[in-house]
Amino acid sequence: MKLAGVELRWVELQMRRPVGTAAGTHRDRPLALVRVVTESAQGWGECGALADGTLVDPPIGAVWTKLAGDAVARLFRATRARGGHLPEASRIATLFAGVPVDRMAAAALEMAVLDAELRSDGISLARRLNWAGALDAGAAGGAGKGAGLRVRAGAMVGIPPDREPRSLVDSVDEQVSRGFSRVRVKIEPGWDVRPLATVRREHPDLELQADANGAYRLGSQGIDDAGRLAALDDLALVCVEQPLPPGDLAAHAILAGRIATPICLDESLGTNRRLADAIRYGACSVACLKPSRLGGVFATRLAQESCRASGVDAFVGGFFESGLGRSANAALATLPGFTLPGDLSAPADYLSADPFAYPVVEGGRVEVHDAPGIAPEPDPAMLLACSDAARTVWVPYTP
Ligand code: MG
Repeated sequence: MKLAGVELRWVELQMRRPVGTAAGTHRDRPLALVRVVTESAQGWGECGALADGTLVDPPIGAVWTKLAGDAVARLFRATRARGGHLPEASRIATLFAGVPVDRMAAAALEMAVLDAELRSDGISLARRLNWAGALDAGAAGGAGKGAGLRVRAGAMVGIPPDREPRSLVDSVDEQVSRGFSRVRVKIEPGWDVRPLATVRREHPDLELQADANGAYRLGSQGIDDAGRLAALDDLALVCVEQPLPPGDLAAHAILAGRIATPICLDESLGTNRRLADAIRYGACSVACLKPSRLGGVFATRLAQESCRASGVDAFVGGFFESGLGRSANAALATLPGFTLPGDLSAPADYLSADPFAYPVVEGGRVEVHDAPGIAPEPDPAMLLACSDAARTVWVPYTP
């Protein structure tokens, strides 16, 4: 595809309500969008970085600086080396080093190039990823045989501002009443056994997950939280996610021998190499795979293949994406290694506005976009209304 230029666009959105986690509260949701324009089609990409970043992911401002700095320049250099034709989307990640800010920038650029490729080829992302025809065989992420392009979606509930177990139960009730059978609840030391036990009493059959965002300790800083975490064993959780700091795979492996609840890793899994180490050490039996963090859709496809080969359950994790990023994640969730419902609830549940459309989530399932591209084109008026004009930059490609 002959490249004409790249647009970077900063979009200001807000969270519908603040989401509390052990690592901080999410309020604003700025998005960095990339639009790649070629002679045959244009494509949209979204950066998953959050306003303040996470324990391991850079804040969006840092990724924006990278994108506007040398990321587009790298893409142009690679394009010049191909006589003005863009590199294939699946090669974009190779233009970047492996540090977190690079991976997030690469994921955004990859998504835009991929979207343009898919539109140019007249195919959806789900079909491109399932090139072996697995979709038609009904392997859509637990959707069941013959269910077509629908995947299971899970919901997420933060730590309530009033820290009352009743408020948590109310939020979980709301998600269950909307058809979600899997709910992921944020925990931290002091907000764990009691609120989760309250939820479990009211929802004995719910697929309940706890996400600690690395807030517990095992023999570091003089703290041993294994007993505290073992107290969750009676609650029949699907898993406890990222209980310990992300850098310590060995501690997770030790913890796995001391508690019965399966351990899921999220922040620990920044690269496929780390995932391989985690699996080899026995540090996780569930993986939360986030395409933005791993460096894109293709890195994530590889990651779910590793999980599948090793018998590790996996789900697609979210970063409060717009309908664009979520649609990419829903397409990924059709792959057979994604054995658990992903973070695929509708952006309308958590974003004040969204220029990208997303299908209705019904009965805990969401339809996967099955027209050319990753998602429908954004609504131009809404996109303009939430864009920061001073940070909307068109960079023409020059041979
Ligand atoms: Mg998590």
